[in-house]
Amino acid sequence: MTELDLILDGATLPDGTRAAIGIVAGRIATIDRSLPGARERLDLNGALVLPGLIDGHVHLDKTLIGDRWWPHQREPSGVFSVRERVAIEADILKRAAPLAQRAGALVELAVAHGSTHLRSHVDIDPETGLKSLHGVAGVRERYRGAVSIQIVAFPQRGLVSCPGTRELMDEALKQGAEVVGGLDPAGFDNDVEGQLDVVFGLAERHAARIDIHLHDPAEQGLAELAEIAGRTKALGLQGRVNVSHAYALGMVPRSAAQRVAGELADAGVSILTNAPGNHPYPSVTLLREAGVTVITGNDNIRDAWWPYGDADMLERAMLVGYGAGFLTDDTLETALDLATHSAARVLGIDDYGVRVGAAADLVVVEAHNVAEAVVARPQRRYVFKAGKLVARDGAFLRH
Ligand SMILES: [Zn+2]
Repeated sequence: MTELDLILDGATLPDGTRAAIGIVAGRIATIDRSLPGARERLDLNGALVLPGLIDGHVHLDKTLIGDRWWPHQREPSGVFSVRERVAIEADILKRAAPLAQRAGALVELAVAHGSTHLRSHVDIDPETGLKSLHGVAGVRERYRGAVSIQIVAFPQRGLVSCPGTRELMDEALKQGAEVVGGLDPAGFDNDVEGQLDVVFGLAERHAARIDIHLHDPAEQGLAELAEIAGRTKALGLQGRVNVSHAYALGMVPRSAAQRVAGELADAGVSILTNAPGNHPYPSVTLLREAGVTVITGNDNIRDAWWPYGDADMLERAMLVGYGAGFLTDDTLETALDLATHSAARVLGIDDYGVRVGAAADLVVVEAHNVAEAVVARPQRRYVFKAGKLVARDGAFLRH
């Protein structure tokens, strides 16, 4: 056997067993009761080892972390409006610190909190062009040794209702975006067929995954979810399409939500929720019982949309569990699953988990088990990306 690069002794695995984890060339080579010789050993003294956390939905280009404090501004009309919010954001981002500084600070915070994979939406519109894409792609390159970043081309200002965006989305997918985004086909573009034609067309042309922001309410949103499920199935894209938020599923009678959840499960369409505090959202339990893959993410983190958040996926899992009324150990494990194994399937990460053959993307925390890790959100003692230590005691390590 080749010599191990690193052994993590005295690890408590997610299933509760005690073991030593042997790492070679960035991968978990062996897991056993005890392991001989290695270039380096680290005694974890029974600390819990989790797979690297996955933030399934962030906006690296929007964050104001790493800049001065920007107070949250109200819409001029006094009620929430996406269009007014976009205008407020554009004004702030013109005056904010450069994207590389803000997005870099957020990435470092995410890694310090144990995230080893992020899916970031990036605004694509005629005003910003591909500037945000290039900025986030540069940050991805800078931090590639610490975290994997998947980029979604996101039409924040509409797709078919915003001339030039379709062509820019196409170009973004040639220049480094891996996922086609969408935004409220009815509520924003007022053209469900038109927007979905473009989104699914781009996904086919670029063999890309799909991730659509859907805030459209109640019956309108349900009809769009059914339409997305139908197209996904017809095109054989099962497992490659995600809908973020899908508020509609939390705004209709249970029987209606169950019916559409069944269609989503059948089509292999997953749902992301960030478990917002101020808006109805889908029941995680209902969706999982119907067979839908559910994942979570932080979404907006201290930006023009939302002043909260510090990129901590254990905290997000706790908020999911809190909102869903999860109290038992097995349901608290479900909450973490949304930020680990389920998210890995949705992002298409095959070499994932605390298992032999997987990438050594690992987080070590002081907790007896997964349930305690979710409720206590202990400081991340160690974070490894491909076997390399990238954060220690809650702090990002610059190499
Ligand atoms: Zn979002």
